[in-house]
Amino acid sequence: MSANTPQPIGSSTAAADISQQQATFTAKGANPHLIKTIENFSVRPRWLFVRIETEGGVVGWGEATLEGHTEAVQGSLRDIARRLKGWDAMNIEDIYTYLYRHRFYRGGEVLMSAISGIDIALWDIKGKILGVPVWQLLGGKVRENCPVYGWIGGDRPSDVLEQAKVRKAQGFTRVKMNATESIGWLDSPHALDETVKRLAEVKSIGLDAGLDFHGRVHKPLAKQLVKLLEPHRPLFVEEPLLPGHPNEMKDLYNKTSIPIALGERLFTREDVRPYFELGCIDIIQPDIAHAGGISETKKIATMAEAYDIGVAPHCPLGPVAFAASLQIGFSTPNFVVCEMSWKMHYNVGADLFTYMTNPDVFAVKNGAIDLLMAPGLGVEINEELIRKEAAEASKLEPWINPLFRGDDGSVREW
Ligand SMILES: [Mg+2]
Repeated sequence: MSANTPQPIGSSTAAADISQQQATFTAKGANPHLIKTIENFSVRPRWLFVRIETEGGVVGWGEATLEGHTEAVQGSLRDIARRLKGWDAMNIEDIYTYLYRHRFYRGGEVLMSAISGIDIALWDIKGKILGVPVWQLLGGKVRENCPVYGWIGGDRPSDVLEQAKVRKAQGFTRVKMNATESIGWLDSPHALDETVKRLAEVKSIGLDAGLDFHGRVHKPLAKQLVKLLEPHRPLFVEEPLLPGHPNEMKDLYNKTSIPIALGERLFTREDVRPYFELGCIDIIQPDIAHAGGISETKKIATMAEAYDIGVAPHCPLGPVAFAASLQIGFSTPNFVVCEMSWKMHYNVGADLFTYMTNPDVFAVKNGAIDLLMAPGLGVEINEELIRKEAAEASKLEPWINPLFRGDDGSVREW
């Protein structure tokens, strides 16, 4: 029976059968590109790496980090791994379509993060087999370097001026910080004064700064905050309202000249579509480890260009997701800037370079990172360390995000 033969209603096909059908379908005779193994590794600080190896011994790395939901994604990856054994790793679009479309239930952060991790690893493999960086496979380079921004402050930001000076000395010209601590639906307007002061301080030393509202600020305060910030010209405001409110975002959009960015909690072209069609954002921020990997992020970026929307990949994640995001940046005309997690507040126990053997490729020069030249993603992974760390991490509870409650005990947005 061919892999394309519909199954009778009521029958089920074991994953091993599907894999066998697919192996027959894609390869008549020995094919070194068939998927041999898919593994995942949960490591500090809060990252989830995917490793795919082909029958020919080529190894690709992906990243499926979904902050605070590691075990959910691992479950999805286990399910995917048993289905894909024997599939041709070179047929990325076919595998993506199978994982996304064929499975009936689709979308959402868990399934899409698992697919993203697989997809990124497959692009790494393809680049390594063909001996070219991924940006060559995406149409070639459109720039020589990718602008990046670093974080200052944490969830409860203070001393931002000192931190901004450190970022400047590290080579950054742009930074991002949280706009507020946890905040109520309607809070005292005084809660916003600090935000304005901090932005002014960071800008006083010549840095540009984006402000991440983090979906913490609701409509009654968001409209006040953008008005207060406007004279200080932030680079952008991020998630000024929670996703799921495109009409309310459009109202806010019409009240301010500050560029509005959003997208880390949107997955696939279907999710971004209403925001594009309504014209309520200026910058889309797909997270390559959640949005559908390199395949889907590139398509979101191309779609955005038709609406004059810039692309700023969200990436407070590890080196594999960062390298994948840069590959989009090198090959995408409407790319604007990429987030970089180096020395960010959540990197406890390990940092962006910990699991890399070639960290020099991520050197920040004048606020940007040079073209990655090595085949595949361009990062060399210390597999021995990852296996050791994952074995240690398996004895610990995976990272979960902090719980914020208001003075009245009610749960607030993180
Ligand atoms: Mg954000």
